[in-house]
Amino acid sequence: MLLLEGRVQHYEWGGYAFIPALLGRRGKARKPHAEYWLGSHPNGSAIARGEGGRVPLIEIAPDLPYLLKVLDARQMLSIQTHPNRAQARRGFAAENAAGIPLNAPTRNYKDANHKPEVHVALTPFWMLNGFRPWPQIVEILDAVPEFRPLRSAKSLRALVRRILTLPEPTRILEPLLARLRSEGAVSRQDPGYWVLRAAETFPSAAQDRGIFFLYLLNLVALQPGQGTYQPAGVLHAYLEGSTVELMANSDNVLRAGLTSKHVDTRELLRTISYAGEAPPILKGEPAGRGIRVYRTPSTEFELTRIHLSVASTRRRVALGPVILLLTEGEARIGGIPLHRGQAVFARDEAYAIEAGPSKVEIFQASVPAR
Ligand SMILES: [Zn+2]
Repeated sequence: MLLLEGRVQHYEWGGYAFIPALLGRRGKARKPHAEYWLGSHPNGSAIARGEGGRVPLIEIAPDLPYLLKVLDARQMLSIQTHPNRAQARRGFAAENAAGIPLNAPTRNYKDANHKPEVHVALTPFWMLNGFRPWPQIVEILDAVPEFRPLRSAKSLRALVRRILTLPEPTRILEPLLARLRSEGAVSRQDPGYWVLRAAETFPSAAQDRGIFFLYLLNLVALQPGQGTYQPAGVLHAYLEGSTVELMANSDNVLRAGLTSKHVDTRELLRTISYAGEAPPILKGEPAGRGIRVYRTPSTEFELTRIHLSVASTRRRVALGPVILLLTEGEARIGGIPLHRGQAVFARDEAYAIEAGPSKVEIFQASVPAR
């Protein structure tokens, strides 16, 4: 059992309070704290602290198949999808063969791996997840007057192609933004709210095709403890709130909008899934007293939430590499005293969790048993 020190990522869209407070840092942060990484990814390996001193986790667990994150979205993130394994392998090889440097802004594939993700909200959380069912999209096209030029599209695939290849999206988006601004505030349940938020965040919103997707994708409100899974091809975006996220160890993102970064329309059209359905909300399957497992089809990772009542003890076994992150209370895990925001790494060992004077919440990242 080793104490883990994660790595903070200061992306512009991050919040100033949630992650610093989780990590027990006093005072207001000067830089946005977007993500706290617990894993062995080369762009931010955690540090393990044991008797041998401080060692990057990548040296102890170079084979770790997952990356655990705490994410805090103050501003909305880009609308994106992730490739499947075959697409990632082919795309990575093709971009290498074309001589596109790994850090080039036009590079889509940073590695040859897929990047499915599961996450569980820590606060009330807003996101987009997958296309709405087609009849709902038809209703929206009818209800939004500026979308009149899109109404002739006979299928979701045709509509998406039309949007991504519109020669001048501003002819629709400028009047839409002007009307929404004049109508004023609406509730978060209305896509118009997020359009106005996007216009505050992105100076070029009137040219950004991502605005269309704010209407076409399922708008999802999660309560703490609820989550979603994002398999390959499903368009999604985190809009607001804090969450625990677990994903395959990859950095492959294809963006569709709400971004100043590269949008590769051809690659996007080739990889997105057009299945339109209400997104399944994960509540976690009960797996013992206080334990919920957020099961997904992923073979690389499994996210588990563990609740302990005051001063209780739970004996557990780590099968394979396991990361445990304390998100509430104080506890001793494998004899190591931890406070909120601290994490440990264990591999193939038995250990006890001993809760302190308040109730305890722990998120566990592990490899699913076959
Ligand atoms: Zn994603």
